Amino acid sequence: MSRGSRVAILGGGISGLAAAFYVRRLWPEIELHLFEQSSSFGGVIRTEHVDGFLVEYGPDMFSTEEPWAVELCQQLGIDDQLVGTLEQHRRALVVWQGRLYPVPEGFVLLQPRKMWPILASSLLSLKGRMRLLAECLVPPRTDTGDESLASFAIRRFGQEAFERLIQPLVSGIYTADPYQLSMEATMQRFRQMEQQYGGLIRAAWRLRPRSKQPGGHRSASGARYGLFVAPKEGMQTLVDALVQQLPGGSLRTGCRVHQLSPSEGKWHLHWTNRDGQCCDQAFDAVVVALPNDLAAQLLKPFDVPAANLLAAIPRSSAAIAVLGIRTADLARPLDGFGYVCPLVENRRVLAGSFASMKFPGRAPPDHALVRLFLGGACQPELLEADDQQLLAWAREELETLFGYRGTPVLERLVRWYRAMPQYHVGHLDRIATLERLLEAHPGLALAGNAYRGVGIPQCIRSAQQAAARVVQYLQGRRGSAAS
Ligand SMILES: Cc1cc2nc3c(=O)[nH]c(=O)nc-3n(C[C@H](O)[C@H](O)[C@H](O)COP(=O)(O)OP(=O)(O)OC[C@H]3O[C@@H](n4cnc5c(N)ncnc54)[C@H](O)[C@@H]3O)c2cc1C
Repeated sequence: MSRGSRVAILGGGISGLAAAFYVRRLWPEIELHLFEQSSSFGGVIRTEHVDGFLVEYGPDMFSTEEPWAVELCQQLGIDDQLVGTLEQHRRALVVWQGRLYPVPEGFVLLQPRKMWPILASSLLSLKGRMRLLAECLVPPRTDTGDESLASFAIRRFGQEAFERLIQPLVSGIYTADPYQLSMEATMQRFRQMEQQYGGLIRAAWRLRPRSKQPGGHRSASGARYGLFVAPKEGMQTLVDALVQQLPGGSLRTGCRVHQLSPSEGKWHLHWTNRDGQCCDQAFDAVVVALPNDLAAQLLKPFDVPAANLLAAIPRSSAAIAVLGIRTADLARPLDGFGYVCPLVENRRVLAGSFASMKFPGRAPPDHALVRLFLGGACQPELLEADDQQLLAWAREELETLFGYRGTPVLERLVRWYRAMPQYHVGHLDRIATLERLLEAHPGLALAGNAYRGVGIPQCIRSAQQAAARVVQYLQGRRGSAAS
């Protein structure tokens, strides 16, 4: 590569930081410039240590099922800081008619892996339980096109299991509308099981482990919690380690990018710096690791179809109320990793996550840390309420569901506007079209949570691919200049 090849990375969330890290790894001499509009790096990842609590304002763990986040931690030398979720509380609760029920043991997202706990559960009516278990008799769909979570779940398990169990467990992860959420883009493996084994119960039976789990622990319900880890000192550890590995001069905060234009083999970038001055510079390649609506604005002047596809991916907003409480003030223990609330319950809080039950060291002794989620794609109007109102609704929820009587020792409220992309039916086809359109701009790559997965591992994967794309482009250019 010729000296002075410059790459711009737009956005300093996990996607942008990881893209910068992988560009440097592939080509250490490259001149790198990362632009972040806010005053700190990490995007939605933010950890605060306060009065013995470890507060996560955004993500609080990541999956090890896909290798990319764990590999990055290894490459950063922080893998020894990862801790798994606490084993004894690995289960989820669900609200029904104002009361809490455990998610039947072995029921994972939308797959029953054990029959007896479902038969014994009072969460569903007898008819609902029978219909759920009759899933093994439902023939697979012949049309292999995409469908919504609601369509898939109702077709296979019936309306009741969908409303009371599957909708809150699955669409809660994406704060999504279940009638629009794409099965193909979010829960593809369950569709594959239907095609391969004829149904999800049949798949569970065929894929069941042949030996009992060591230690004889009850198997988890809700999400597959055994697969999740977090750094001991919080998710910020990952961000700080990335920032430390990148050359200080290459990272800029307080810089809002507002224009990008290709011209004569270069990418001309315009931004406003922390002093409000407009600046511009030409780059050889660019990784756009911004939320897709902002990426759409940048691409619009030179690629309207790609910009339109980007702009068509909606994003939902949510607020998180974080409460630090004394456990003695609870009438009912927080026995699980959290609870989810079906949309048909018409409550304000979508879900509650019991941070101090998931990981050690999240709250001082005799205290608990709870995060309550409000808003999402189906209740956006709740974010019009002020912070005090949102916190009051969160406290009320703890009072009604857990008999909480007390005053929290810690209260925080964070709002994440347009933070969660919504993968609607047909999402993957639209992304494939977008990727084809981007072939016309080889020095440009996109990374982030709007494309092929919202989780941290998928964001890191998208960053790796974006880094490989721009480095390959620059190598190719150098090769043709030399010949
Ligand atoms: C509340 C919440 C909880 C979550 N929980 C989990 C979880 O537990 N596990 C998990 O795996 N995933 C979780 N996710 C998903 C995951 O955290 C995100 O998808 C991921 O962190 C997004 O990273 P990103 O870098 O793509 O985007 P972002 O974090 O949004 O970063 C984009 C960056 O671009 C910057 N920017 C914006 N405009 C400009 C501009 N014009 N110029 C320069 N910079 C700009 C922003 O300031 C921001 O720093 C959660 C997400 C949310 C919102």
